[in-house]
Parts: sequence; C-alpha cells; structure tokens
Amino acid sequence: MAEIERIAEVAGYLWTKGWAERNGGNISVNVTSLMSEEEKTLPALCPAIDLLTPMEVLSNHIFYVTGTGKRMRYVAQDPFANGSLIRISSDGKSYEIIAEQPIVPTSELPSHLMMHNYLRGLGRDIKVVVHTHPTDLIGMTHCKPFLDSEKLTRTLWSMIPESRIIVPKGVGIVPYEIPGTLALAEATIRQLEKHDVVFWEKHGILAVGEDIIECFDAIDTLSKSAQIYMNARMCGYEPEGMTDQQLDDLVPAFGL
Ligand SMILES: [Zn+2]
Repeated sequence: MAEIERIAEVAGYLWTKGWAERNGGNISVNVTSLMSEEEKTLPALCPAIDLLTPMEVLSNHIFYVTGTGKRMRYVAQDPFANGSLIRISSDGKSYEIIAEQPIVPTSELPSHLMMHNYLRGLGRDIKVVVHTHPTDLIGMTHCKPFLDSEKLTRTLWSMIPESRIIVPKGVGIVPYEIPGTLALAEATIRQLEKHDVVFWEKHGILAVGEDIIECFDAIDTLSKSAQIYMNARMCGYEPEGMTDQQLDDLVPAFGL
C-alpha cells in the first residue's frame, strides 16, 4: 500500500531530523478508505484486545500504528516489522491485529484512538496523529512566557510567513503531564478543538491532519521558526519578527 511507504518516509524524516531518539514518538494513520473489501476482512492474528473506552465512531476502521518500543529509524526501513494494521471491532470496544505480523501497538494507542474518535465524531476527515520530539520546539516549552498559546503562536508565526500560512490555526499548549496518561490525552483533545498542532510542555509535539506529509510539514515549518528565533537570540538580539499588519496581510493573500 502506497500509504505505508509514505508513513515509512515520514518516520525516516523524524529520525534524520533528530526528533526520534531511541523509541521516541509514535504514528497512527487511518487507512480504511485505502483498503479493498477483501483486505478489510483479513483474519485476526491474535485474540481481540479490549479498549479502555469504547470508540464507537471508529467502528470497523483500520489503522496502521507504530509498535510499542519500536524505533522510528527502523519503522522507516521496515514498517511492518515495527508496526501493524489493527481493526477496531464493530462495537468499538476492542481491536484486532490483522497484518502483517502480531506487532503490539504503541502504548499511546488509547490516546491516539481517543483523538481519532473525537475528531471523526466532529465530522472531520482526520486520518493522521503524529507525536515526535523536535529539540528546538521542546526547548521553547522550557521558557515560561511561551507556555501561552497566543504568545508562542505569535512568536513562531512572526519568524517567517510560511509558519502563518502552513499552521493557520496556531499551536495549542498542554501543561506537563506524565507521558502516556489519559490526563495527557484528554488535555490534548481540548486543545484539538482549536488547533491541529499541540505542544506538550517539556516533552514533545502532537500533530493531526488528513495527510501524513502535511503533518510533518507543519511541525518542520514550526521547527524552522524556532531555529530562527533561537539563532537570533544566540547572536545576542531579540528578533524583530513580522508586524501584526504583515501577518494579517497573509490572510486574504493566501485565503487563510
Ligand atoms: Zn513522547
């Protein structure tokens, strides 16, 4: 499936960017619409696994999910030795692994599915959830004034026009939570009401979207902005940033 190759491509970018140390980060992609009727009914490779909360909206949906403890650099090389296809049951209460090997999904699977379930429930065709550890963006969350969505968005937007264009909804912030917890997932979902990219304080970034390359592009563009900001600060000056007027002028020019 071509989509699996695109997932592997992005996994490779996450590693080469230095955003995926050891087994850092995870990816889930809804591939239901890309599968034939025959593929959708592939037999389960192991007994059904119960979900903590029912995912009714995702009934019979199929996802590619990176495996627990698996490294992005190896997902890039062999996505089906480092991840698997799972199918949500028709009542949304469990899932089965259907291809190609019984690779256990990331421990973040419940969080990812909660986000897919929530966004699809709103009628949005969100297919992708990506979580990764960009050094520069995480660095900014160690600075108290940036733990404010408006302040952080304004700073990143104003470094280059592309940030305003490619991340038009700005970024959300979730104060520090223990990784992998329901509390982190719930706080993230609240931010996803307004934003498609969410910063987790002192931990990482989560992006959602219809397309995995676009999710990567959004994070990559924000990372570029962060680097411009930090390079200026390292040279000893506060970067001027684009003016409010310059940022506002992008809205009609790019139909934002
Ligand atoms: Zn993480």
